[in-house]
Amino acid sequence: MTPPRLTFLGGVREIGGNKLLIEDGPDRVLFDFGPSFSPRFDEFFVNYLVPRMNVSPVKDLLEFGLLPRVPGLFSRDALVHSDLPHQPPEVHGVFVSHAHFDHAGYLSLIDPEIPVYVNEGTRALLQAIEGSRGKKYGEHPWKIVPDRAPVKVGNIEVVPHPVDHSIPWASGFVVHTREGSVAYTGDYRAHGPRQKLTHEFVDAARAADPSALVIEGTRAGPDARKNFTEAGVREGVDQILGATDGLALVSYYPRDVDRILTMYEAARSQGRSFVVSLKTAHLLTQIHDLWPGGKLPLPGGTRDLLVYRRPKLRFDSWEKPFLDAAVDSEYVRAHGRELLLSLDLVHFAELIDLRPPRGSPFIHSMSEPFSEDDLDDQVLHNWLDHFGLTFHQLHASGHCAENELRTTIESIRPSTVFPVHTEHPEAFAKFGGATTLPELGEAYPIGTAPRRGGA
Ligand SMILES: [Zn+2]
Repeated sequence: MTPPRLTFLGGVREIGGNKLLIEDGPDRVLFDFGPSFSPRFDEFFVNYLVPRMNVSPVKDLLEFGLLPRVPGLFSRDALVHSDLPHQPPEVHGVFVSHAHFDHAGYLSLIDPEIPVYVNEGTRALLQAIEGSRGKKYGEHPWKIVPDRAPVKVGNIEVVPHPVDHSIPWASGFVVHTREGSVAYTGDYRAHGPRQKLTHEFVDAARAADPSALVIEGTRAGPDARKNFTEAGVREGVDQILGATDGLALVSYYPRDVDRILTMYEAARSQGRSFVVSLKTAHLLTQIHDLWPGGKLPLPGGTRDLLVYRRPKLRFDSWEKPFLDAAVDSEYVRAHGRELLLSLDLVHFAELIDLRPPRGSPFIHSMSEPFSEDDLDDQVLHNWLDHFGLTFHQLHASGHCAENELRTTIESIRPSTVFPVHTEHPEAFAKFGGATTLPELGEAYPIGTAPRRGGA
């Protein structure tokens, strides 16, 4: 009988792509299953050179180790034309920490008999994304798990705990096996509006006295980029809006509901309406009833929240409910000083119709680029320069700063720290505690001293 062990099938020396397998005897549970953002995928695919998903959903990814060769995990459809034979499921459950693509994006490849465990909010977010993006997560027995409710999968008991991250309803996990426990943070931070949840997760993880802490480290190591707290972003936006007579523009991550609320409240406090895309309107409508305290504004429900309608020949069915009340570029040109308009880089061509007054602020409420030769960033600035818009950088990260990572480790005091979801796992050495740099595909025993040495 396999003793309890922990295997890293992704998220090793890369941001995103966490795939954590926990086994105990015959029982096998997987945590998160999505693509990595960098850098391994980018070593083989670029621009139009992409995996041939129409030939085989997994073949090209398996070739470069971008998907693990796990028997009894993939669906028959996913394995078509690949050399991995289909087998009845040997993985007995997949837990998804949150609805970001790098954690849920490969769910469609999983055998439709394997249950997928999520909380109610994450399920609603995944459904909203399926509705507006056509992105499919596949057919599964979806198991909705309440926060902090233990789930038994054979010998393995999983307790999901809500944590703070840049998408709502993110979870960390405390996992109990026969030999010992593992805490897994998922993606998290301790400086957002739900930081209390993160502290409660850390307390629960400490109480479990885990032999292993699997911790994300997106911001570990060298990072000169500016970051604020969510409250700091709000202060900055207040200042910018207070000093502006005309239109103000903003760009943010499409499912960062905290940021949407920050922008909405900031606009409202200055007597402006916040104007969102059809996609944001759809998202807010889909999750409105689940939002704690019913405090999410509903498009169409208030003049403080308007919907922007780009000129299109044909609208999808999910867009249609918002069209009648939506505003267009003509309206925005005429009422600029009453509005904060969200505009993503992909829709910058709207600026040609919007013609904001020169000097209008553009608030970039997203991560700064990693490198100075980032192409998207260059194009963004070319457009801003062309229209004479003033650039402002104001972002609160969804991920822990180094001092927050250190506090987590010092509070939980696990036997071994395994950094994942980071390009700089070695940076964890300075946080104290016994750190083991996980190797891709390597299994580590749970509840006993780590087999491999570490930094
Ligand atoms: Zn992630």
